[in-house]
Amino acid sequence: MNINNLFKEKKVVFSFEVFPPKQVSKIDTIYNTLEELKGLSPDFISVTYGAGGSLSKNRTCEISSIIKNKYGIEPLAHLTCINSSKEEVTKILDDLKREGVENVLALRGDIPLEYKGNSSFKYSGDLITHIKERNDFNIVGACYPEGHLESKSYEEDFLNIKRKQELGATHLISQLFFDNEIFYDFLEKKDKYGVKISIQAGIMPVINTKQIKRVVSLCGAKLPKKFIKIMNKYEYNPEALRDAGIAYATEQIIDLISTGVDGIHLYTMNNSYVAKKIAESTSSIIKTINNYKDIVI
Ligand code: FAD
Repeated sequence: MNINNLFKEKKVVFSFEVFPPKQVSKIDTIYNTLEELKGLSPDFISVTYGAGGSLSKNRTCEISSIIKNKYGIEPLAHLTCINSSKEEVTKILDDLKREGVENVLALRGDIPLEYKGNSSFKYSGDLITHIKERNDFNIVGACYPEGHLESKSYEEDFLNIKRKQELGATHLISQLFFDNEIFYDFLEKKDKYGVKISIQAGIMPVINTKQIKRVVSLCGAKLPKKFIKIMNKYEYNPEALRDAGIAYATEQIIDLISTGVDGIHLYTMNNSYVAKKIAESTSSIIKTINNYKDIVI
């Protein structure tokens, strides 16, 4: 199924992100997570690409296939292109097609230290064009409410988003953020730049201090005062910190859906306990909004 149709059918699309187990782990370790996530009836599940080295890259296709063919949920396979040849990318797309995967999140990927500038693809737009030529996949793109770290201005970032739309991306998933006001500002600006496609808000429940430091160093997300206060308060109490992280993400999601966002994409970090707690607290509100299609928010 083309997941873009979900945005025509629903007011709020709710999805999860998982990542393939690291090279040393057996692929079975993802089964329990998927089993639990299936029970939460997400609209689709996305699978990251490349974060755990080359073996985990092959696993994106394998796990996407399991999500579709074993669990009956629509998968969205992430695919990065920097440092990959056209042949490599084409092979992955052939594999995904063979497994019945119909949706691809087309990304450039972070530029590796060893990169020598000799890639067939320079930007995500080049990958979108390559995928579009085949006419086999629905294409999704990434966006950055706080701006991409390499962009010199908001304008540059929005022109890139608009380019993704023109090249064939049918919806966007946002980078994680902790301050909803930043996301609302971003949505207000998108109209000015003619961005019309649906945008899902990316939410990551932060459940330990190591994770916060890593996330902030990788994507530069701003931490609101309230968030810092909670994290400091429970720094030495892991269970309380986890619960506070779940509560913070839940509050963010309820605020977003009651303000009328197109969808929520939950970065689960393969933690089904956390995903379950959040889905339990938000699913009845999402159901209500989706049942009353003529609710105007
Ligand atoms: P691009 O859209 O190519 O943009 C990168 C930079 O180049 C931006 O500053 C943009 O403004 C600029 N730019 C783009 N096109 C042009 C142009 N034609 N001319 C001039 N400048 C241009 N990484 C992974 O490795 N694996 C994953 O699975 C993964 N999943 C992700 C999922 C989401 C929802 C998000 C938000 C990010 C994900 N990432 C993942 C991280 C992503 O790969 C990085 O953020 C990467 O640095 C940018 O990827 P992009 O596709 O947004 O790049």
